[in-house]
Amino acid sequence: METKATDLTELFGSMVFNEDAMRQYLSSNSFSAWKECIESQTELDLAIANDIADAMKHWAVERGATHFTHWFQPMTGYTAEKHDSFITPAPGGKVLLEFSGKELVRGEPDASSFPSGGLRATFEARGYTAWDPTAYAFLRDNTLYIPTVFYSYSGQVLDKKTPLLRSMDEVSRQAVRILRLFGDTATKRVTAQVGPEQEYFLIDEKDFAKRMDLRMCGRTLFGASAPKGQELEDHYFGAIRPRVAAYMQDLDRELWKLGVLSKTKHNEVAPCQHEMAPIYTDANTACDHNQITMDVMKKVARKHGLVCLLHEKPFAGINGSGKHDNWSLATDSGDNLFKPGSTPSQNARFLLFLAAFVKGVDEYQDFLRATVAFAGNDHRLGAQEAPPAVVSIFLGDELTAVVESIIHGTEYSDPGKKSLRVGVDVMPPIPQDNTDRNRTSPMAFTGNKFEFRMLGSSQSIAGPNIALNTIMAEELEQFADELEGADDFNEALASLIRRVFTQHQRIIFNGNGYEDAWLQEAARRGLSNLTSTADALPIYTAEKNVALFTKHGIFTREEMEARREIHMENYCHVLSIEANTMADMIKRDILPAASAYAGELARRALGRAGSSACRYETTIEGRISELTDGLLAACEKLEADLKGAPEAVEARLTYFHAVVFEDMTAARKLADQLETLVERKAWPFPTYSDMLFYM
Ligand code: ADP
Ligand code: MG
Repeated sequence: METKATDLTELFGSMVFNEDAMRQYLSSNSFSAWKECIESQTELDLAIANDIADAMKHWAVERGATHFTHWFQPMTGYTAEKHDSFITPAPGGKVLLEFSGKELVRGEPDASSFPSGGLRATFEARGYTAWDPTAYAFLRDNTLYIPTVFYSYSGQVLDKKTPLLRSMDEVSRQAVRILRLFGDTATKRVTAQVGPEQEYFLIDEKDFAKRMDLRMCGRTLFGASAPKGQELEDHYFGAIRPRVAAYMQDLDRELWKLGVLSKTKHNEVAPCQHEMAPIYTDANTACDHNQITMDVMKKVARKHGLVCLLHEKPFAGINGSGKHDNWSLATDSGDNLFKPGSTPSQNARFLLFLAAFVKGVDEYQDFLRATVAFAGNDHRLGAQEAPPAVVSIFLGDELTAVVESIIHGTEYSDPGKKSLRVGVDVMPPIPQDNTDRNRTSPMAFTGNKFEFRMLGSSQSIAGPNIALNTIMAEELEQFADELEGADDFNEALASLIRRVFTQHQRIIFNGNGYEDAWLQEAARRGLSNLTSTADALPIYTAEKNVALFTKHGIFTREEMEARREIHMENYCHVLSIEANTMADMIKRDILPAASAYAGELARRALGRAGSSACRYETTIEGRISELTDGLLAACEKLEADLKGAPEAVEARLTYFHAVVFEDMTAARKLADQLETLVERKAWPFPTYSDMLFYM
């Protein structure tokens, strides 16, 4: 179905109880009260909440809703919901549709089924959800969705939204202090802006159904490389195939209805790989919208006979999927604090925010790495595929030249004319994004924002953004403390910027991050290189990290320990499911198929009694038998090692990485060799060429 431009403006946000809808459905008194509550971050009184609930219900029921749900983001990284209908019994065997302020504001899902990392003893499994009035409610599948935060009976945070909101407040508070120093008296709030680019694979659902690994694990555990991979690059920015184009069109419409600013769509590097990028928005909305996007992507695919794979590495040997997290800070009047400006004052401010970012990323490089550490992402970071596990910042040649001239007190550009002095009334212009984009950098400055490229495609963007906001808040706080007390602001500013760039320049790297030479150079610079989840997760609760998050009131120590434990357990669960799936497929699919085919070859060879032997039958039969014996042994080892896994979570994490994962790699190698020998029609599931080149 074609979408006309006029329809589109009507379609957009039609399933969202947004400000426009609120204005229509609420009394002006309640509408102002809601606005006031958002702006001054105060509580709503119950009468107003009742009013809003009633208006929401009317709006939703008019659009076919029968149920409502509190929608929250537990520590699994996915979203959760529990649906209740609006019905209440009425006289005469009838029902009324009701929705009260109390039901809007607070919910009580059964919390015992969500991971809490020991924060909530099971005998006190109560958890509560509370409405986040800063995020719009929306309608999906005849249900009114209410974005909420999730916390335990004793007030501990059990979700990803609460710390994100807190970190946004904290970075705002500190950024406003800095703005005041530059004479800005108007800005009330600074908001973290985020645009997450979402990569995904689409495959035919018939192939998906035939592969237990895809169904159980979201990735292939076996598969010999197809003769063609991504080397011709004919897929990237190539014409979008009709079936995929129809999917993308449908996806856009569904996302637009839900108010998601889906903007760019194109093919990606690998065959069957695509990307959607939304227009950036505040970090909280971006996070909600990315969760909605991932869910809608999967649902819409099924309508088209396709399956959307969000795993970081569905197929070995070709690129995996990431999620670039574009991040910046903007004032309430829309002024981007990472945009080099046109006046000396704006540029001095820009350099100060840049210095804070550089210092923060250098000091908390290990924590940033830990926020993207999970089983799926291990196949990308630090593996064959970039970005590397070493965190560094790309600034581009020109901005780096600016930074260097500040460090060395030398002249920048126009040799012989101006030397680069930093101050609110002296500053040469700063160049804007004239450099080539460096695709190998994990953290690239791209003109007016930073692009954090280490995130995995399936992960919630909350964790990395909580980290970026909090780190930035910390550095800005230190800067504000120092500068507020200075006698001469210009002088203090210049020396602070120079000192910070000098001390933290090791984190800046503009070269090719994929080269081995960089890893050696990074080691010389003392940058951390945490190549796996098993290496990265333990540092989550390093003292300096706990100090950072407790100081800013984002997490308590217990909450951080709980999160670390949940992430560690998650890694072990994922590997255990993968290992069990693998053993099952080896024993019940691969070995039987290989053995049947070897038996067939042996029978054929035997049938030739008297006539001359067939070399194909005898050699291949021999090689298959050898490989099947090897695979059986590998599978037995895998199963035995699985049973031998230690209980304690930290030891278990290391063990799964060092032992179980290695067993899986060894078994896969044998199975993939078998695939290249067994007759095509005898192979028990679709191959890489079947799945990746189906259209
Ligand atoms: P590329 O693939 O070249 O990185 P895309 O257009 O695919 O570029 O994605 C860029 C993303 O960055 C978009 O989601 C866009 O909205 C977002 N973005 C642009 N400017 C900002 C900004 N100032 N702050 C945060 N995100 C931004
Ligand atoms: Mg990008």
